[in-house]
Amino acid sequence: MSKKILLEYDHIEGISTLEVYRKNNGYKSLEKVLKTMKPEDVVEEVKKSGLRGRGGAGFPTGRKWSFIAKPEGVPRHLVCNADESEPGTFKDRYLMERIPHLLIEGMIVSSYALGAHTSYIYVRGEFYYIIKILQKAIKEAYTAGLLGKNILGSGYDLDLYVQPGAGAYICGEETALIESLEGKRGNPRIKPPFPAIAGLWGRPTVVNNVETIATVVPIISMGGEEYAKIGVGNSTGTKLISASGHINKPGVYEIDMGVPVEEFIYSDQYCGGIRNGKKMKAVVAGGSSVPILPAELILKTAKGTPRLMTYESLNEGGFATGTMLGSGGFIVMDEDTSIVKNLFTFARFYRHESCGQCSPCREGTGWMEKILYKFINGTATLEDIDLLWDIQSKIEGKTICPLGDAAAWPVASAIRHFRHEFEEYVKNPESIKDVKHYFRLNNLEQYA
Ligand code: SF4
Repeated sequence: MSKKILLEYDHIEGISTLEVYRKNNGYKSLEKVLKTMKPEDVVEEVKKSGLRGRGGAGFPTGRKWSFIAKPEGVPRHLVCNADESEPGTFKDRYLMERIPHLLIEGMIVSSYALGAHTSYIYVRGEFYYIIKILQKAIKEAYTAGLLGKNILGSGYDLDLYVQPGAGAYICGEETALIESLEGKRGNPRIKPPFPAIAGLWGRPTVVNNVETIATVVPIISMGGEEYAKIGVGNSTGTKLISASGHINKPGVYEIDMGVPVEEFIYSDQYCGGIRNGKKMKAVVAGGSSVPILPAELILKTAKGTPRLMTYESLNEGGFATGTMLGSGGFIVMDEDTSIVKNLFTFARFYRHESCGQCSPCREGTGWMEKILYKFINGTATLEDIDLLWDIQSKIEGKTICPLGDAAAWPVASAIRHFRHEFEEYVKNPESIKDVKHYFRLNNLEQYA
């Protein structure tokens, strides 16, 4: 049975209010930090916990914090990346909607650790109702002396702002987010310099995901070493997983790192198995940007060992036979799913969301969408499979930001593991005679 650390109180009526949150140990970590810890002690505790960024990259949070430059007289900033838009990922939305004060407490503790006095939560614009929830919670925190000047009499000052995004997936990339926060078009920046040196308005800035920042609160209350005892190897603590697709119990689950994938999919405690008694065909384990794996490779590694819900185990075998934990967007597909149609939907998304700065991404995403369209309308040839492979290989690793990789990896993995399906679409166009219906069903009328 996994521990509940982030979602321990999420079921409690009224937990989104300051009053109920405080009755359930809310803001105790902040009190502990302001009364008994120096900023560097907080950074040390987060390092000991082994916490890794929960937005997708999995970079150690304590190390990221320790990179922040501290030039004399220059303000520093903490920015929370709440621009959750990765297809298949909805755990940050859940956290903000249910327990907004957990994020706000995490923002105050983390800002204190970084020496920031003005911090921001950059929220996906479509989450309009969540922006309202956060604004209400921030107002409550100001009124209670938990934000603003001299927080809880400690002498520490912090102002916290919520900034809505304008509907671009690319603004989840940290430098695009910073550009957008500065009021510009959200184009990713060339790195270096990294935000820790020159971020928001050229100042040292840390950008962390919602779940990462919220996790700092229990790390402080239980201690970094205790937190690090949960999990396996370098995948410590718990992780929120957004589970969707053809499972009996879709939803947001908090798991101990290291739960076997098979248990996560089939146990009643989590996804409850595949719906309608069907067989599982494939899984996208970490949001649409990671390689898709067939059922046999998501349950067991190529060496035959059980695959675990950890950064390392999911990546076992590299991309030849493995994938990534990514943002924890776990999409399960049953035996009736068309991998090619699914890939077309992903490709269409990345073509639409490419900012257009780099030629491989701008042109490549468009070509991949066009070629995939040929497969599902019955005009593709066998050479198109190789052409698709060639295009994705010319995107990966050759762009300013990871969106290029995110567009290429699903294509590469689908061809690697499901080439026979592409061939079937070429050899037997009869199998796709429902294509017009598919387009209408998926709001793709322009293709019908
Ligand atoms: Fe823009 Fe794509 Fe280049 Fe990223 S990879 S900077 S989204 S064109």
